[in-house]
Parts: sequence; C-alpha cells; structure tokens
Amino acid sequence: MLKINEIFYSIQGESTYVGCPTVFVRLTACNLRCTYCDTKYSYFEGEMQELDSLLKEIASHKASHVCITGGEPLLQKEVHTLMSVLCDQGYKVSLETSGSKSIELVDPRVKIILDVKTPDSGAADSFIMDNIRFSTPGTEYKFVICSEKDLDWSEEFCRQHKLFEKFDVLYSPSYGQVSERWLAEKILQKNSSARLQLQLHKYIWSSETRGV
Ligand code: SF4
Repeated sequence: MLKINEIFYSIQGESTYVGCPTVFVRLTACNLRCTYCDTKYSYFEGEMQELDSLLKEIASHKASHVCITGGEPLLQKEVHTLMSVLCDQGYKVSLETSGSKSIELVDPRVKIILDVKTPDSGAADSFIMDNIRFSTPGTEYKFVICSEKDLDWSEEFCRQHKLFEKFDVLYSPSYGQVSERWLAEKILQKNSSARLQLQLHKYIWSSETRGV
C-alpha cells in the first residue's frame, strides 16, 4: 500500500525527459519545507492505494513514461517495489527526489533526478552526500536557483564533487524570484557547464497559452 496524493497524465516539464507524455504519480508526505514549494498540498493529503490498483490506473493512460514524484517519494518504502515492477513492465521510469533520503536501494533502471537544495530553499543541509556515490551515469542533478548566492553555491558544489564531469546538471530558475533570462546570462558569464532548465509545463498550461 502506498499513500498517493494524485495521479495525472501530462507532458514532462523537466529533466532530459522534457516533452515526453508521462504519467505522474505523486506520493504523499515530505520531510522538507522548501521556501518556494508549490506542492504543499502533497504534505498530508492522499489516499492509500494497493499496488495492483495503482498499476491498473497507470496502465489506463497508455503512456511509456512514468514519473514518481512527491512530496518526497522515498519516505514510503513500497515505492521501490512499484518502481521495479514498472521497469519490469517496460516503462521508462523516473524518480524526482530531494536527495535527503538515501537512493542506495533505487532500482538501477530508474532515472533519478536529484534536486539538491540550495541555501535560499531553506533546506541546504538536507542532501545526503553518499547519494553521489550511489548515483548512476544516468542520474541528473537539479538545482533550483533563487539568487546569485544560490548560483555560486551550486557552482561550487558541482565543482567540489565533480558533478559536471559525471552527470547532467540542470539549473532551474525559481519561479518569481529570478528570471529565465537572468539565469541564462549568468550561466554564460560564469562559463558554467550546467544546462538551463525551464519548467515547460508552466508555459504550456499558463493562462496566456491556453487558447488554441
Ligand atoms: S522537497 Fe519538494 S515537495 Fe518537499 S518541500 Fe521541497 S519543494 Fe516541496
């Protein structure tokens, strides 16, 4: 049994799977309280669901990608079974986690997106350093940048732990705090090896773009 906040079918807005039609499975509960969190409704709300019924609901969308997200999905141990069964069934599975819980037991077939928390997130000390060792070559590191201080901190973190050499590193502007253009210019100025990531779903589903 897993406590599920919501399941929905949409376009993946983040990571290198951006643009892929994807079933999102959002698990209830989070151990962090980031300043910019836009999924506070996932902290407590949700229904317990059996694995079989969950798999049926996912299959009903006929998608090839499934994204396990939260909240913090690794707070519920049975998520490992869910991810492995989905991989066995041929899905491309991704996991969005803050890195504040160990990824050691995650099925190696799963693409992990580790959202390393920056100082302005309010949760900067939450990352478990051993997760760098447990990462696979397909693991992606994401940093939500709220300020220049965050950007400098992220650059230092990546250099210190040689993330640029080993993994895809994604910088995402914190919505309403820094602009996409500001971050693009800073990445160029600093000769960063990070990739600029825009939250595609926010553009697709924003009020300005809803018309046909
Ligand atoms: S880890 Fe994610 S869900 Fe949890 S508080 Fe931070 S932004 Fe919100």
